[in-house]
Order: sequence, then C-alpha cells, then structure tokens
Amino acid sequence: MSRVAHIVWTKLTGLMPGELNRSELVWLLSPHAHFSLLARRRATMIVNRVRLFAFLFAVLTPLWTLIDYFAFPYPLWFSLAALRLSASFAFALVVIGYRPSGSIPDAYRAMALLFAVPTVFYVASHQLLAGHQLAGMSAAIATGYAFLPFVLLAGLAIFPLTFVENVLIASPILCAQALSGYMRWSTLDWPSFAGAFWLLTLITGVSNLAGMSQLAFMIALVRQAIRDPLTGTFSRRSGEETLEMQFTLARRSNAPLAVAFVDLDHFKSVNDSFGHEAGDQVLTEAASRISNNLRRGDMLVRWGGEEFVLVLPNTDLGQAREVLNRLRLRGFGTRPDGSPVTASVGIAERRQEGVEDWHQLVEVADRRMYLAKTGGRDRIVHSCSGEPCPATS
Ligand code: GH3
Ligand code: MG
Ligand code: MG
Repeated sequence: MSRVAHIVWTKLTGLMPGELNRSELVWLLSPHAHFSLLARRRATMIVNRVRLFAFLFAVLTPLWTLIDYFAFPYPLWFSLAALRLSASFAFALVVIGYRPSGSIPDAYRAMALLFAVPTVFYVASHQLLAGHQLAGMSAAIATGYAFLPFVLLAGLAIFPLTFVENVLIASPILCAQALSGYMRWSTLDWPSFAGAFWLLTLITGVSNLAGMSQLAFMIALVRQAIRDPLTGTFSRRSGEETLEMQFTLARRSNAPLAVAFVDLDHFKSVNDSFGHEAGDQVLTEAASRISNNLRRGDMLVRWGGEEFVLVLPNTDLGQAREVLNRLRLRGFGTRPDGSPVTASVGIAERRQEGVEDWHQLVEVADRRMYLAKTGGRDRIVHSCSGEPCPATS
C-alpha cells in the first residue's frame, strides 16, 4: 500500500513545475515562508502590474462612453459616462499613489484597490441598467456589463500569486456573485445563472494555475539571480541587498547585528597542487559545512573567490563568537591530501562598533580577518586590540 502511495506521490510531484525543487513547492501554496528577497521582488512585480493595468483602465474606461452614447437613451448613457469618469479617476489615483516599495502589504493594498474599483463600477452600473427595458443592440451592450466579474477573475492570471492568495482574492467576487443570484432567486433564470457561475469558478481555477506557474517561474529566476552557482550560497549582490535591509531593520529596533568575514587559509596551494577542480570541491565543501550549522535567518554570502561573509541578525558579539568557534571546531572540511581546511575569521557587531552603515561593519570584520592572517591564520579575531579599525579610528 505504501509503495502505491509512494508511486502516486512521485508521479504527482513529477508533474509539478519542473523548475522548482521539492522544498520550493510549498512556496506556491502560501507566502508565509517566502524569503525576504523573493518577497521584495514579488511585491515590486505585483505593484508594477497593478499600475500597468490601472493605467490601461484609466484610459480605456472613459473611451467606451462613445459606444454607450450610441447604444443607450439620454439619461442612461450620461449617468454611465459619469460613472466611467469616476472609475477612470480612481484608476489614475492608483497609478499615481503606488510606487514599487518592495513591501508585500503595499502590493496587497494596490491589488485590492485595482479590484475594488471595477467591482464598485459593476454594482453601480448594474443598478443603472436594471431600471431600463432595453432591446436589440442596446440589450447586447448592456449584457456586456455583466461580464465584468469574468474579466476580473481572468485578470488575476497576470499576478504571481500563491494558491492561498488567489483564493482569498477570488472569494469575495465569487461570493458577491452567489449572493446576487440568491437575492434574485424568485425571478432568476437559474440554469443560465448556474452555468455562468460554473464558468466563473472554472476561470478562477485556470487563473489560479496561471498565477502559480508565474510564481514558480519567478522563484526559479530569483534563485538563479541570488545564488552563487558553484557553492549555492548567496551571491555578493544579493548579500549586499540583504545587508542593507538587515542593517536598517537592526538600527530601527536597536537590535544587534553581527557579521563574520571568513577567508580560507592557503587556498591557492590547493589549486596549485591538485588543480582547479579540486579547489572548487574544497570550496563547495567548506560552504556547505558553514551553511549546515546556521540558524534560520542567518545568511552565508560568497563575497569573492574563497572569501565568505556570514550575516547573523539579532546576534551580539558574544553569541557570534560562539557560533564561529563552533564552526571552527567542526571544521571547514579537508584538502585532497587529507589535511584539514582552516580559515581566518574576523567578527564585528553593529552596536559594539557604533558603525553608521553595513559597509563599515563589513570593513571592520575584513580588517580583523586580515589581523587573523597576520597573527598566524586558523583563528578568530573579534577586536582590533590596539590596531586601527577603520570605522572607529
Ligand atoms: P591566505 O591564507 O593568505 O588567504 O592564502 P590564499 O592562498 O587563500 O589567498 P589568496 O588570496 O592568495 O588566493 C586565493 C585563491 O583562491 C586564488 C584563486 O585562484 C583561488 N580561487 C578564487 N576563486 C576560486 C574558485 O572559484 N575556484 C577555485 N578552485 N579557486 C578559486
Ligand atoms: Mg585565503
Ligand atoms: Mg582571499
């Protein structure tokens, strides 16, 4: 039985978006475990798309007044035109009011507004049209107004959203539709209503899949952009972006933030004696040994060649020393000849050094790493002990 379950599971996961690995699949379901860089890029993309669509709607909504003018009698087309102008104004406010800030709550608010404007427009235009008996071409154009919920739910497909987010955004629209059917139950042509409702649900499902596959693609791209291909640690660029963010956060809440500059000792001799490929292997091994001993929220960055920067949020100097001592005792792996790989490490902590920005913090750690080298390598230095530290001198 468990064998069958296993086969079914393997087949199922084989059908999942191929660009993701297993641990990344849960990110398609809900956003709660998204790492901060992914969240920021996603927020930027959502806000950009909201603004693009708000701009298109701001321009196109009033243009349709021309068609209303020929299709409907006087007071009706005029009221609709007023409604369209107000909607266009609201869309324009969305374009002006939202700039990508990298914050997911901002992105949610922008999306909610983008969907709220046509929803209000839909309800109001429905009220206006319900008061008129229309026939022929006018009736056909009036029916067009009833398609707005379909357009909204199909429009969800352009956003890189998780399953839960898609459901949360689509539910109010589906519920409103169901409620309006329930309220008109006595006069309702229920088979055609049920058919339309079913279509709406199907469109929601397809949009949901489309949004999730966009998200999958985005996760794969972000991973490639932020990871160093050889060691799988964070690349220098994404490391700098995270340091900037962590430093700001730490300063705002006056929390400690420690960084460690780690440089492997005599690494060049591995390359010289055993070849570049053996060097690559030693490097990968060292990176994975460091990574495996970190807490959630800590971050390992490949700063350059055989140099790594370890970012430790909410960690004071004493705790950082413990972390690095433990790492050093467990070792950084072995060289092809069996001898242990060692490293020289410099540690610095934001509050301790009284530095102004992350550049200075990394600079102090780098200087101490250099002191560890000149002091004989294979050691950790956490103070400048009389030597000039750049940020405090
Ligand atoms: P020290 O103890 O003073 O740090 O000596 P070292 O040999 O480690 O330092 P040095 O900076 O002189 O040499 C670093 C070497 O790292 C030089 C370069 O060939 C090698 N290296 C940098 N990136 C890579 C890489 O991606 N793969 C391999 N195999 N070697 C690399
Ligand atoms: Mg070195
Ligand atoms: Mg070096």
